[in-house]
Amino acid sequence: MNVKEFYPLFLKSTGVCTDTRKVEKGNVFIALKGDNFNGNEYASQALKGGAMAAIVDEAEFAKPEENIYLVEDGLIFLQNLAQYHRLQLDIPFIGLTGSNGKTTTKELIATCLEPKYKVAYTQGNFNNHIGVPLTLLSIDASHEIAVIEMGANHMGEIADLCEIAQPDFGYITNFGKAHIEGFGSKEGVIKAKSELYQFLNKTNGTAFINVDDPIQLEKSTDLKTIRFGFEQNATYNFNRTSENGLAAIQYKDSSLQTHLSGNYNEPNIAAAASIALHFGVSAIEIQKALASYHPNLNRSQEIEKDERKILLDAYNANPTSMEAALRNFATLEGSKTVVLGDMFELGDISDQEHHQIAKLATELKFDNIILIGHEFQKVKLAYPNIHQFPSRDVFMEHIKQHKIETDRILIKGSRGMALEKVLEVI
Ligand code: ATP
Ligand code: MG
Repeated sequence: MNVKEFYPLFLKSTGVCTDTRKVEKGNVFIALKGDNFNGNEYASQALKGGAMAAIVDEAEFAKPEENIYLVEDGLIFLQNLAQYHRLQLDIPFIGLTGSNGKTTTKELIATCLEPKYKVAYTQGNFNNHIGVPLTLLSIDASHEIAVIEMGANHMGEIADLCEIAQPDFGYITNFGKAHIEGFGSKEGVIKAKSELYQFLNKTNGTAFINVDDPIQLEKSTDLKTIRFGFEQNATYNFNRTSENGLAAIQYKDSSLQTHLSGNYNEPNIAAAASIALHFGVSAIEIQKALASYHPNLNRSQEIEKDERKILLDAYNANPTSMEAALRNFATLEGSKTVVLGDMFELGDISDQEHHQIAKLATELKFDNIILIGHEFQKVKLAYPNIHQFPSRDVFMEHIKQHKIETDRILIKGSRGMALEKVLEVI
């Protein structure tokens, strides 16, 4: 079975599913193999559960008479089907990558475009070699514009995702210290993310550029660009107007106020507003849309508990986003505690980066500095109010007895630390 042959069946389906536990009536099930499972074994079950057809890549599971078709490789089939489908869709595609802020910016772009368009966009954090194809396959003829988040932790991944998603427009949120293990260095990060620019160059696409970021400027010189920024002159110019920890920017006479905490969100909002303005959404519509958007998914959320303001930013962390979060937090009023969890995937620079972050926290003079995890355990700093805990659970036991009394608390760590759990006891 090849993609072209299969495509009419896909169009008749109610969507693609790769997990039999989530199969819905009329779905196409595509069997994928993971370290711990072999999707082929579930194909029959998928059909019993309501799927109209299945794709397998091991001959013994194929039963064409029952609509279970054999392909060479299920994952490649999924990716090729997604690419083929995308090429049938004649709507603008905006591809998004970067070290920090992809999901936040993606949600903001969709929010700002929604007053005028039916927007297809990545759900949650489905941004990898499986998530991107599934996102593309969820787009249908009713959608008018698409926003696709693309993540990477190794070289060549963004290039591959671009081939599948074929973005006409692109934006790289920033180049930071994330996934250093896979990229080797910050230079490696820049090279890997710039694969989006290379794709746009090759296909005559357009990049949105934050002119305040020298790397974005330098790496996009060969490209068609649409420029926005705060400091330097650009097509879309904004002022930074965040106050009391809530991110806001000003565009001409419109104040774009959000419920996102953290001034590091200012460029994310500016990118979203610029993209929406480019696609003809008015400043007033953007203003209203942003005002009614509430962040979720443990990112940049402000929560009130026992008269303390808790800034929950526990979705993930790396040195760049940690520094941005600490510097933002330091500007807020009141007494402050930072609860920081290990940053994962830093390879050789891990010790040094954890030390740097702890040191920055002392320099910013927080009243209490709580460091959690094996990596932060290694930090040795003479500062009166540093407390170290080997794990989140040990810390949670501790605070059941010793309540944190400061006016504000920042909680941030890598996904694997799942520091949002701390909220249960804090
Ligand atoms: P992932 O790689 O997990 O998909 P992401 O790039 O989608 O991450 P988000 O989930 O949007 O990023 O944001 C993660 C965290 O990054 C935020 O909670 C915030 O702390 C930080 N962050 C967001 N935007 C920026 C930015 N422009 N600069 C620095 N840090 C940022
Ligand atoms: Mg994301």
